Amino acid sequence: KAKELGRNCFQFYTSAMHEHAKARSQLEGALHKALVNNEFHLTYQPILSRDDVRIGCEALLRWENKALGSVSPADFIPICEELGLIIAIGEWVMYQACSQAKAWQQQCDKPLFITVNVSSTQFKRQSVVELVKKVLEQTGLDARYLTIEITETVLVDNSESILLQLKALRAMGVELAIDDFGTGYSSLSYLKRFPLSKLKIDREFVRDLPDDQDDHEMVKAIISMASNLNLKVVAEGVETDEQLWLLNELGCDFTQGYLHSKPLQAAAFENFLRGYMK
Ligand code: C2E
Ligand code: MG
Ligand code: MG
Ligand code: MG
Repeated sequence: KAKELGRNCFQFYTSAMHEHAKARSQLEGALHKALVNNEFHLTYQPILSRDDVRIGCEALLRWENKALGSVSPADFIPICEELGLIIAIGEWVMYQACSQAKAWQQQCDKPLFITVNVSSTQFKRQSVVELVKKVLEQTGLDARYLTIEITETVLVDNSESILLQLKALRAMGVELAIDDFGTGYSSLSYLKRFPLSKLKIDREFVRDLPDDQDDHEMVKAIISMASNLNLKVVAEGVETDEQLWLLNELGCDFTQGYLHSKPLQAAAFENFLRGYMK
């Protein structure tokens, strides 16, 4: 009996693993062709400043595949990193985002800034400095309107080459934001060691505001620390008026989240900009 059960279990696992492997290889196959098949596009989520003076947006990648439908970047980006596809896709994102920002600046005559997510694989496998230099030249976007978002994983590698790249980017005038702050490694020493300009508080700390007292204290502490380190603070995942009110009260410089807007297609973002500037 036990043997039978055991065998069934084994069969169950192998067939589940087989299904998983099949789905994964289908995904990989599709990803390899996604760029040439024009299946990627960017969406833009507004980032608003407390003083209403500055406005920007985060470029967020979307993948629409005929067979697979729309796949979340949280699912496909890690695979692109493994397969090395993130290099080509990341270049496409950088070019697309900067040329769009430049076009909007010319249309609306406002110093709109754009933020682009760059993964640690990109820093390890290519010169992000060369890429950014090339793209800024090609698009005519002024470096100070570009912010590169990196996660703590980029910094914990603690590699000399990455530190040099980040310094070179800062020297060019590009801003650096630490994304998903508070969810990665807890060492805070890198906040001093790396030439950062902004800190994005992860949604996790914002979600239960204003009621959760622990989160309230945490966010308060992060904002005060950031301000002492001369870092601007952006809160992610702001969904309610109460959250916005509290974050403003605590001195948070920028907010981003569904309350202002979900990530928008380019045309919809233009409408948002027009409405916002009125
Ligand atoms: P992220 O950089 O932390 O981006 C913020 C994510 O939170 C986005 O998810 C955004 O749609 C979502 N979000 C924004 N406001 C709210 C809100 O109020 N409530 C909730 N529940 N969610 C909100 P998205 O677009 O699915 O992207 C997921 C992650 O994928 C990003 O997290 C980023 O790490 C990565 N990613 C997206 N585009 C790129 C890219 O071009 N390159 C790289 N390397 N990574 C990217
Ligand atoms: Mg981001
Ligand atoms: Mg984030
Ligand atoms: Mg996140």
